[in-house]
Amino acid sequence: MKVLVLNCGSSSLKYQIINMENETLLAKGVAERIGIEGSFVKHEPVDKDKTVIEVALHNHKEAIKVVLDALQDKDHGVVSTLDEINAVGHRVVHAGEKFSGSVMITQEVIDALEECSDLAPLHNPPNLMGIYACQEILAEVPMVGVFDTAFHQTMPKSSYLYALPYELYEKYKIRRYGFHGTSHKYVAIKTAELLEKPLETLKLVTCHLGNGASMAAVMNGKSIDTTMGFTPLEGLAMGTRCGDLDPAIISYIMEKEGLDINAVNNIMNKKSGVLGISGVSSDFRDIENAAAQDNERAQVALEIFYKRVTKYIGAYAAEMGGLDAVVFTAGLGENSDTARKEICKTLAFMGANIDDSKNDNLRGKEAIISTDDSTVKIVLMPTNEELMIARETKALIS
Ligand code: AMP
Repeated sequence: MKVLVLNCGSSSLKYQIINMENETLLAKGVAERIGIEGSFVKHEPVDKDKTVIEVALHNHKEAIKVVLDALQDKDHGVVSTLDEINAVGHRVVHAGEKFSGSVMITQEVIDALEECSDLAPLHNPPNLMGIYACQEILAEVPMVGVFDTAFHQTMPKSSYLYALPYELYEKYKIRRYGFHGTSHKYVAIKTAELLEKPLETLKLVTCHLGNGASMAAVMNGKSIDTTMGFTPLEGLAMGTRCGDLDPAIISYIMEKEGLDINAVNNIMNKKSGVLGISGVSSDFRDIENAAAQDNERAQVALEIFYKRVTKYIGAYAAEMGGLDAVVFTAGLGENSDTARKEICKTLAFMGANIDDSKNDNLRGKEAIISTDDSTVKIVLMPTNEELMIARETKALIS
């Protein structure tokens, strides 16, 4: 069985085709600058030469057509005909309270996702464009929606409600949803396998630290709390997002700087986080380099980032009444030994001792990086959201 996984952004479309008989990647790629001049598809088959196709892509439907042609290309293709694609798994960011798991895409599901669009105006409309395009081009192929919010639907009310008037939740569904759910779920499952313990018995804190960053308290296999909220702006400091903030600051900035709410939203989403503090970059590699050259603002940006992760580890351990493992994943979590070390440096009091000889220079490989006598394990677990989407897709269509 071959599953095509699609992740459609506003001007990009990432894809992978995975052979689910043995969970091997056949090809991956990305269509970029959709609807913008200079668009192209970068196609990377695993066993053949890569290729870049420079072609005008006016919309997602055109992009998907070019991707499907590349998948069947005689020199760069990985299938002989489109009939070999048994299913399409779509990453969808926001499913509101509608879905607590992945679902087969039907008209009812599409209507429900359209309704959620105002909760994720940047993400859901392009996700839906990908679904509509496949409905037209791959009409006979079953499609599955896998939602970033679904894994966190197990959070109790005490985690997901804000201390706002209850009517605002009832009227507008203003509550915490959480994101990166596919990643948190995947690394939680894989960590249980690595520790050789049933997931249903474990208390984990999963740290997805990438350009967007979030953490989850995963107790007995279920998300019971997470750092992102109504939108992916809450929680940790991120590449360009501010994370937790005193809400009074918003009106204060508006008044002092003479800005409207859109301008302040733009500051909080695009100009804050480690970029805003350091003034250097949103890329942690650049900030680590600047910090190593004594750039004080880069140093404090990293300290703020690390401290918030450490605080949430402590908070979630307290919330779960214990902790079996801290799990690091995503771009920074998988690649930065410094970040992992700094985040864990004060955790010895709770039995989490990082082992420098295991952590130093370790990148992108699953491993236990705590000392052998550490009662709380520290784990590096590479995420694979596309494989998780393909697994959920396979499970539903079988
Ligand atoms: P992601 O959003 O998961 O793709 O993560 C992207 C971020 O990971 C980048 O912005 C970098 O800041 C960070 N990253 C990737 N590789 C490294 C590395 N070797 N060292 C430090 N940070 C890295």
